[in-house]
Amino acid sequence: MRTSLAILFALCLALPATAANTLNFYFIDVEGGQATLMVTPAGQSVLVDAGWPGFNGRDAGRIAAAVKHAGLKKIDFLLVTHYHTDHVGGVPQLLAKVPVTTVIDHGTNTETGKGADALWKAYEEAIAKHKRMVIKRGDALPFKGLEAKVVAARGDLIEEALPGAGQENPLCAAERRRDEDKSENARSIGFVLQWGKFRFIDLADLTWNKELDLSCPNHKIGKIDVYLVTHHGMNMSGPSAMVHALKPRVAIMNNGAKKGGSAETFEIVKRSPGLEDLWQLHFALAAGQERNSPDSLIANVDPVCEGKWLKMTVASNGSFTVENSRNGFKKTYK
Ligand SMILES: [Zn+2]
Ligand SMILES: [Zn+2]
Repeated sequence: MRTSLAILFALCLALPATAANTLNFYFIDVEGGQATLMVTPAGQSVLVDAGWPGFNGRDAGRIAAAVKHAGLKKIDFLLVTHYHTDHVGGVPQLLAKVPVTTVIDHGTNTETGKGADALWKAYEEAIAKHKRMVIKRGDALPFKGLEAKVVAARGDLIEEALPGAGQENPLCAAERRRDEDKSENARSIGFVLQWGKFRFIDLADLTWNKELDLSCPNHKIGKIDVYLVTHHGMNMSGPSAMVHALKPRVAIMNNGAKKGGSAETFEIVKRSPGLEDLWQLHFALAAGQERNSPDSLIANVDPVCEGKWLKMTVASNGSFTVENSRNGFKKTYK
C-alpha cells in the first residue's frame, strides 16, 4: 500500500512538468490574414482565425505545423473574429487537417453578395458538426484560469470600462472620425486577455470609429502589455488616441509583404509612449526600409517566404519573451 501511494505521489509530481505554467502564443504568418494560436497555462488551446483558403492548403499547413510544435493533437477553441476571406476563408481546410472541438463566432454574416455568401456557405458546411458558441460584447470567453473579455462583437462595444480603466483620454481632441464602416471589419470580435499582471489585446480588423468609441472620451481598456496591431497595420484602423492610450510595451503586426504595414500605422505605433519594440510577421514593402523594424524582429524578410512565426511565452510573473522562428533571435521583457 505504502509503495503504491509513493508511486502515485511521484506520478503526481511528474505531471506539472508537461503542463508548463506559461501562456504561449504563436503568431502564424498567413500573408496578411490572421492565425494566432494561444496555449493557456491550463493547457487549453485557442486559435484565433484560420487565414486564407487556397494556395494548396498553405495556411492550414502552417497552422498545423504550429499546433504540432506546441505539442497539441487538437484545438479546443477556434475563434472566428469576422467573415472576411483572410480570417474565415481557411476554416474548411483547417478543419480537414486539425480536429477542433468548439467554434466561437459572432453569429451570421452581416455581409451579403456573391463572395460573402460563398464564404459563409463554405464556413457553415465546415462547422456543421461542431459545437458552436455565439458570443456578444461583454461576454467572458470560456478559457480556464485567465480572464478573456469580449470588448467588441458584431458592431457592439462594451459600454463600461474594464476594471481599473475609464480615465478621460486627452488624446481624443485631436482625432477625427471617419465615414461609417458597414463591413464585417467593424463587426470583428475583439478581446482583452489578462493573466495575472499580463494583458494582451486582439481587435482583429476593427476599424477607426469603433476603436475611437472604445477609447473616447474615456479610455475603456486601460494599459496593455502586448498589442496585436489592428487590421494587419492597415491605415483604416489603429488611431493614435487608442494605441497611445493602450501604452503597449510591445506591438506585433500580422502584416504580409504587401498587405497592411502602412506607413501611417508604423508612424503611429512607433510614436506610442513606452513602446519598446514592434515585431512584424513580414517586412512591409510599402512602408520603406526606414520604418520597418530591424530584420531581427521580422519573421519573414522576403516576400516569398517559408511562413515563419513569432512565438511569445508569458511567465506567471507577467514577464514575456518573443522569439523569431526564422533566426532564433529572442528578447525578454521583464
Ligand atoms: Zn484581415
Ligand atoms: Zn477583415
